[in-house]
Amino acid sequence: MSPAADAPARPARVFPRVGPELVAALREIRPQRIVLQVPAGLVRNAHEIAEGLRTEVGAPVALATRACFGACDFPSRDEAPSADVAVVLGHAPIPNVELVRPTFFVEMREAGGDPERLADTLVAAGVPRRLGLVFSIQHLDLAGPLSESLGRRGVSVRIGRGDRRLAYAGQALGCNYTGAEAVAAEVDAFVFVGTGAFHPIGLAFATDRPVWSLDPLRNSLDPPIDRAELVGRRQLAVASAREARRWGILVSTFRGQDRLGTARALEEKARARGRDAEILLFDRLDPRDLEGRAFDAYVNTACPRIALDDGALYGKPMLTPPEFLMALGELPLAPYRFDTYH
Ligand code: SF4
Repeated sequence: MSPAADAPARPARVFPRVGPELVAALREIRPQRIVLQVPAGLVRNAHEIAEGLRTEVGAPVALATRACFGACDFPSRDEAPSADVAVVLGHAPIPNVELVRPTFFVEMREAGGDPERLADTLVAAGVPRRLGLVFSIQHLDLAGPLSESLGRRGVSVRIGRGDRRLAYAGQALGCNYTGAEAVAAEVDAFVFVGTGAFHPIGLAFATDRPVWSLDPLRNSLDPPIDRAELVGRRQLAVASAREARRWGILVSTFRGQDRLGTARALEEKARARGRDAEILLFDRLDPRDLEGRAFDAYVNTACPRIALDDGALYGKPMLTPPEFLMALGELPLAPYRFDTYH
């Protein structure tokens, strides 16, 4: 991603949760106007949080209402032109994404989960003795204590540090599991510690190790998801696009999802193979935006999870960049390559 000329790097500040530390830091910089962005899971409390900040910081607070999926799509200048500070809840900063204004990331860390009980649950389920751990940002504080508890039970734990898109060792990002990939050769399985299927699915695409899911608050463990089925579905999508002549190449203008350089390279490859290709710009993609267009298939250079998780919502095959290269015959179908966003 190349930063826009008018967007110098802005500092990110990080806080574990909404509280006095955040309020004091905001007061210190005397903001004129704050834009507050909350993820879907916290929308219900958003007005209460905005009101609390407004009162305690003493500055106007506007809520960004567009759905937000990651730290890659914080409010742009156009969305909140008068805000000089952003407060982004539920995400860690992405270190290599430049910010448009000083941004306070509130990671909403959870203290919950007893590492001894969680380790007992894992051992009782018979997880392999060489284990990689990956965490949602909310549960990352469990990394040390859970590793120690597992170590005392004879389980060797590896927690990998990823590339410059990840702020922490052991962190999961839906488009980047390079921390896990760094230790994959040394483990026989991964355990994702967090809630929901989003990260276990991403991790299963990115590595060929079984991925168990441990919900630390409920102390419940789900068995590995079926990687062969996930990959098989994507290989079918690739096969269905092999004969496509006209390709739409999707590029997001969100600062943390903008891979225009990749898109241009793909456009050239398509043309070199005798296909038509057109770059299509969007910010947040909606299936309706692609209705009625004369393309046989799409390759999506924005968030890789749009194609992998929501591809069925689009009327035409939608591939990730590595899948596109498979469809053109430039990469083999196997081993499957996850579209890691670096
Ligand atoms: S690109 Fe997608 S998976 Fe990556 S941070 Fe953004 S929303 Fe999450």
